[in-house]
Amino acid sequence: MSDKILIVEDNKTLAKLIAKKIQSALEMEVDVAYSLNEAKLFLRRYKYFITLLDINLPDAPDGEIVDYVLAKKQRVIVLSANIDKKFRAQMLKKNIIDYVNKGGNGDIDYIIHTIQRLQKNANHKVLVVDDAMIFRKQMQNILENLFFNVITVAHGEEALGMLQAKPDISLVITDYNMPVMDGLELTYEIRKTYSKDELSILALSGNDDDEVTALFLKHGANDYIKKPFSKEEFSVRVNNTIEALENIQMIMNYANRDYLTGLYNRRYFFQAMSEYLEDAKESGEKFAVAMIDIDHFKKINDTYGHDVGDQVIVTLADILRSSTSPRDIVARFGGEEFCIVLKNINRYSAQDIIERIRSEVESYSFCVDKDNYIKFTISIGAVVHNDEDTLEESISEADMMLYKAKNGGRNQVVFEA
Ligand code: GH3
Ligand code: MG
Ligand code: MG
Repeated sequence: MSDKILIVEDNKTLAKLIAKKIQSALEMEVDVAYSLNEAKLFLRRYKYFITLLDINLPDAPDGEIVDYVLAKKQRVIVLSANIDKKFRAQMLKKNIIDYVNKGGNGDIDYIIHTIQRLQKNANHKVLVVDDAMIFRKQMQNILENLFFNVITVAHGEEALGMLQAKPDISLVITDYNMPVMDGLELTYEIRKTYSKDELSILALSGNDDDEVTALFLKHGANDYIKKPFSKEEFSVRVNNTIEALENIQMIMNYANRDYLTGLYNRRYFFQAMSEYLEDAKESGEKFAVAMIDIDHFKKINDTYGHDVGDQVIVTLADILRSSTSPRDIVARFGGEEFCIVLKNINRYSAQDIIERIRSEVESYSFCVDKDNYIKFTISIGAVVHNDEDTLEESISEADMMLYKAKNGGRNQVVFEA
């Protein structure tokens, strides 16, 4: 994705001001042109992330530049001081992203916020569910113009299949009336699996269907749009819904993760495990639990200070993360103590992985400064979880093995007999 922006604006002072603000807020490269002709030179050379276009230019007084840039398949935000309603509506009919005022301080902040929004949209997958191909295409166009990754399907059942195949979808936009499975039923089915902090649902409903709108919201839709809708309203509601989802996920991250290392904290470890335990029991999958503790950590703190101690903890967290699979669970239980769960594994493979972690830590040199390297070691106690035990029992068993490892001289793995 390009990270350059083009501003075309004949008011030089304003153009420079916008460019400067964007450069410092977004760290993006900005090209500035003062006329259509100058803009043409830039557009021949670069594909821009976005172009900001003034519609009253000396050589293009009536917004001619908009069609020119759109024909070059570049994305457009129109800058205008013109508040003429008809002209605005005419502009919005074109495939532009937004139509914004320029000049005021708040206006430039709005532009910057819009660009940031578009950058983040590229991380999101949106599933559009509508039986009418023409509406699917229309929504897909708007959404792709907003940088979303878009998948379209024709009814609820197809949508459920797609969610299974691509579970990282952030937003579902669903029509109400559809064959096979309508939007309400789809919303109901999605909410059985996905909570509002994992996935948002935006419902489309007819203008005279107040009852349907209420039902959508009761079934777990986050918001609705009444048909027919303007492109502007659609864009704003989609962006708002995604922004709300991101905010929730950020708060969840704060609540579930350890601040220093970014690993799961102890509380979330048990929450994540309670879901996994049910699945593992049902499928008969085996997993291993290991308790890990840094040896003589107090000495590192006492010799090099608390900050260096913290960095050693972060280093160990990184090693644990990179030596396990993304499916596994790695948590910081507190202090210099960690717990990892290796999923779908037998005793021998588990022992192998855990022993490799121990030896990787042993051979690692932590750099304090160019003359000082710290070597540190860890002790590990581990068990393969037994179906008849509770998770707490397995953890306390692993704890006992850890105690043995410490007593046995540290820097070693003790697996349950
Ligand atoms: P052992 O080999 O028996 O595990 O000895 P140890 O010194 O590692 O164990 P002990 O439990 O006696 O000391 C752990 C120390 O870790 C004590 C505490 O001050 C320090 N500690 C706990 N949390 C943190 C932290 O977040 N950052 C830093 N830098 N130190 C911490
Ligand atoms: Mg210790
Ligand atoms: Mg300790």
